[in-house]
Amino acid sequence: MNSGADKEKQGELTSENQTIVEEKIVKVTGDIQIRKYIKGRLLGKGGFAKCYEFTCVDSKRISAAKVVVKSSLVKSRAKQKLISEIKIHKALHNTNIVGFEHYFEDTDNVYILLEMCTNQSMNELIKRRKTLTEIEVQCYTIQLIKALKYLHSHRIIHRDLKLGNLFLTDKMELKVGDFGLATKLEFEGERKRTVCGTPNYIAPEILDGKCGHSYEVDIWSLGVIIYTLIIGKPPFETQDVKTTYKRIKMNSYTFPERAVISDAAKSLITEILTTDPSKRPNLDGMIASDFFALGTSIPKLLPTSTLACPPSLSYIRQFMPDAGPNGIVQRQSTTNRMGETKDSLSNKVMTDRDKSKGPFLSNNQQTTNSARPDTVENTGTGRPLTTNYMSNNLGIFLK
Ligand code: ADP
Repeated sequence: MNSGADKEKQGELTSENQTIVEEKIVKVTGDIQIRKYIKGRLLGKGGFAKCYEFTCVDSKRISAAKVVVKSSLVKSRAKQKLISEIKIHKALHNTNIVGFEHYFEDTDNVYILLEMCTNQSMNELIKRRKTLTEIEVQCYTIQLIKALKYLHSHRIIHRDLKLGNLFLTDKMELKVGDFGLATKLEFEGERKRTVCGTPNYIAPEILDGKCGHSYEVDIWSLGVIIYTLIIGKPPFETQDVKTTYKRIKMNSYTFPERAVISDAAKSLITEILTTDPSKRPNLDGMIASDFFALGTSIPKLLPTSTLACPPSLSYIRQFMPDAGPNGIVQRQSTTNRMGETKDSLSNKVMTDRDKSKGPFLSNNQQTTNSARPDTVENTGTGRPLTTNYMSNNLGIFLK
């Protein structure tokens, strides 16, 4: 079967076998200017778009171009998704959000030019790395919280936060992308009713549907993301969507017994993954949690070597001087004779067998590592789900 995307036309071929895509710009004077782009390699495929490297022939600027075939937009829901995505994304300007450059269309396609994120998404990162160390999770989570603070302060709920929508630039900055399911509240306190999200990351109040949902659905997904990065697979993942939904509604998930995870991380995840949305911490509450106070500071950006390998223990200890050989800081509350509570450090001691696996590959991690990381967001539960699109109008052909 040919999908709309398969019917995408190739544009004009040059003598060097390069495909050129032309953007027609109508000036205020009525004159027409043609801007040319060289269509480069395929960066990835999404639900309804293919993303290519586009180089502007004049400026040499490289962008990521989401190419959506117009024939795939015959259904009004798909059209509305694209209209809404463009309308919301083009108004966003934040370091931790994928930059929206501009969009244009030709006879066959709509092109959305975005800031290029050369280091792919965190989905690819977790497939390569299996699990991340807590210092890395801190660094990425802080950036994600910054993006969410910006979005929520503009009354925008992303509603599809997942590893595949978190991109990494050449400098290793985290950028939130894909605003296809995002929504802007008309007023504070408004409740949204559209059932949408990606099964593994979807909040229970969306599935329940009784009281609508708001910003807290993004906080829930953030909890799922933190769990997935540390443990190596999403907390509610099962072989079929229905069972995943059942587990989400029953709040049924566990921390694998031998997982390498600090109590502070467990407690933050547990607080976030609370069924009642009003009981989840807000973004400032998350920043103030013990998880972000395990060391003396958090790296602003991580070295590119961490795309393939965990950071060294000496790197980790620059930020977390108390990190044990397994790279985590474990604090245990003990009560002294005066009845005062005092934190003491109790890091697990690495066995010789663990040592032979390198600084962070303890038996524990091996167990979690083998937990089918390549199925993260790649099973039947990895596809976004949407119903009931609201309509709005933009001035592009989609009118
Ligand atoms: P869809 O909205 O159809 O799901 P996505 O926004 O997820 O499409 O994009 C599809 C794929 O394109 C992504 O999985 C990723 O591999 C790639 N991609 C998207 N945006 C960028 C970007 N800004 N930089 C680099 N690659 C990107």
